[in-house]
Amino acid sequence: MAGNITFTMIKPEAFQNGHTGKILDMILNKGFRISALRILKLSQEQAGKFYEVHKERPFYSDLVGFMSSGIILAAILEKENAVDEYRKLIGATNPANADEGTIRKAFGQSIQMNAVHGSDSDENANIEASFFFTVLERC
Ligand code: GDP
Repeated sequence: MAGNITFTMIKPEAFQNGHTGKILDMILNKGFRISALRILKLSQEQAGKFYEVHKERPFYSDLVGFMSSGIILAAILEKENAVDEYRKLIGATNPANADEGTIRKAFGQSIQMNAVHGSDSDENANIEASFFFTVLERC
């Protein structure tokens, strides 16, 4: 059975450009409930750890540099079948290929600066949520 949480980040360029309110609005309008939320700046080490699965990929060091370059918003979202539902809302990794009405289509600037992160499996949603939030920080 599909899980009911996913994890998201609003990435530094989208936060810096003032898109946070509109992105949260799109999330809430799709029926997600926000059960934890914080803004923070990741260190290079923390960003490196979060994206460790991509360590062998050519863009890893660029991605780590970018994700630790500014403030981000991290949140846990709840909805039935949350991972798949949120992947639909965010759109393709490359904003150029993202469908109309998706967050990445509206706010993504490039394949790297693509506005938001969304978990790709229930297992990763739980790992990522726990990376940022303790049980006491979730409602
Ligand atoms: P996602 O699940 O759609 O976020 O995509 P991936 O898990 O494949 O990649 C993680 C993140 O790495 C993406 O959201 C982008 O920010 C970045 N990324 C993915 N592919 C590329 C690429 O080809 N070049 C660069 N510079 N960044 C990429």
